[in-house]
Amino acid sequence: MATTQVPGNGKQSGTTPPPSAQREQLASHDPATGEVVGTVPVMTADDVDAAVARARTAAATWSAMSYGEREAELARFRAGLAEACDDLAEVIARENGKPRVDAMTEVYMALSHLSHAARRAEKALKSHRVSPGLLANYRATISYHPLGVVGVIGPWNYPIFTPMGSIAYALAAGNTVVFKPSELTPLTGVKIAEIAARTLSIPDVFQVVTGAGATGAALARAAVDKIAFTGSAGTGKKVMQAAAERLTPVLMELGGKDPMIVTDDADVDKAAEAAVFGALTNSGQACISVERVYVHEAVYDRFVAKVVDEVRAVKVGGDDGNIGAMTSPAQVDIVRDHLTDAVARGAKVLAGGPDAISGNFIQPTVLVDVTADMKVMKDETFGPVIPIVKVASTEDAVRAANETTFGLGSSVFAGKKAKDIADRIRAGMTAVNSVMAFSAITSLPFGGVGESGFGRIHGDEGIREFTRTKATAEESFALPVNLLSFKLPKGTYERIRGLIKQLYGDGAVARAQDFLRRVF
Ligand code: NAD
Repeated sequence: MATTQVPGNGKQSGTTPPPSAQREQLASHDPATGEVVGTVPVMTADDVDAAVARARTAAATWSAMSYGEREAELARFRAGLAEACDDLAEVIARENGKPRVDAMTEVYMALSHLSHAARRAEKALKSHRVSPGLLANYRATISYHPLGVVGVIGPWNYPIFTPMGSIAYALAAGNTVVFKPSELTPLTGVKIAEIAARTLSIPDVFQVVTGAGATGAALARAAVDKIAFTGSAGTGKKVMQAAAERLTPVLMELGGKDPMIVTDDADVDKAAEAAVFGALTNSGQACISVERVYVHEAVYDRFVAKVVDEVRAVKVGGDDGNIGAMTSPAQVDIVRDHLTDAVARGAKVLAGGPDAISGNFIQPTVLVDVTADMKVMKDETFGPVIPIVKVASTEDAVRAANETTFGLGSSVFAGKKAKDIADRIRAGMTAVNSVMAFSAITSLPFGGVGESGFGRIHGDEGIREFTRTKATAEESFALPVNLLSFKLPKGTYERIRGLIKQLYGDGAVARAQDFLRRVF
């Protein structure tokens, strides 16, 4: 396949700002073959600032549009992406290493979020009246307004689906967006921006700035109104520090160490199949991968046997592979380190293992006899690994599941207590008798707690995340006494004192009930 050179001639709005001919270039590689897929310019802080300034100009028009007008614009953007789905799937599969079918699924999920956000924005952001309480002569209203320009910094594991979780919701809420894709998957970002430039009637509503960490850091320091960051907790902390200089608010979508709990009354076969898919899909490079499995001792042997059986059928690499190459050698090194550490500390390998790594390909690995002190149980592995722990009770499973600094996704396979167990897991999301489903349900908020981050994308919360909330108190009629004035009548102190005692003092509840009885 021919490689792609992104010229960066600055003519096409939404792609790249005008670079000098000698601009430093960044190559995107196919991790399966090592081939260069294409190159992009490394953008400087000046380039980033210029993109943000253009986005600011565009925001004036974009934010003034009606919801209906923006929905129509975003429908054209969506149709442009949909028409280009083969090209998008191709570039994603090549840059990331995932099977083409996974890349196409990712495009589908990204478009479902774009569609949902555009359709839902008006309802989610509708102004509404609330009780004015004691200020009964006031109309109290909550309204939502676009922030302006949102900077989105994305990872490489789902190059369109993950950033679209921020991009779609930010755009639908009336903001313009400057997107910094991962240096491992920049061509996907460039392709999205080209389609935006072609389909949106206003230039610079969505732009991409390409480069590595320094370009991301420049965006975090730029004059944007919010930074939506998706990536590792370590980088997230740096982004927060940079954003702190301007007190720019941040949304943090970080890593996870998602637990799965399987109880003694679970459907064991279903749970095993789900564990295999949840841990191995995208070669385990998903923030909501199943990373730890706690199984009740009553069903443990059956579960482990089924998992090993299922794993043996998983094909790695090739056109019909279930999983592809790991996206980067650096990620392979992390997985190898976790597996080597686990084996050195006494874990037993039932499939795959540290010796089953060849180049960027890792055979699915099943580990048992794992303990909480192993890296594979503490840190994000982000690889095709299933560590399984035998537990004596559901209580033990919940306790172990919550013994983590992360708290992104989770899953529970159980009988009628499943929902109760789910509620006790300290995580942003839980799939019950399923895995990962919450990320595909567009109206559910997505995000984590602890080192998995804060703030929410997707759903109504995800739309409001990209707005400022305005509280309005409007006097609807004047009262004889205006407490918001220095011209208070004599005796006001005593009247307020009386009010306090009546409303909040001893017997206030009984008085209120008595009052209600008399009135109604
Ligand atoms: P990363 O933190 O290495 O990089 C993420 C992005 O930050 C990249 O675009 C990178 O260029 C940029 N960056 C690097 N240094 C920067 C700096 N100093 N300032 C600003 N930006 C900088 O993460 P990654 O390896 O690309 O992605 C994998 C991680 O992302 C995993 O931890 C995964 O769990 C997480 N993730 C989370 C979610 C979620 O929704 N919670 C989704 C997908 C991935």
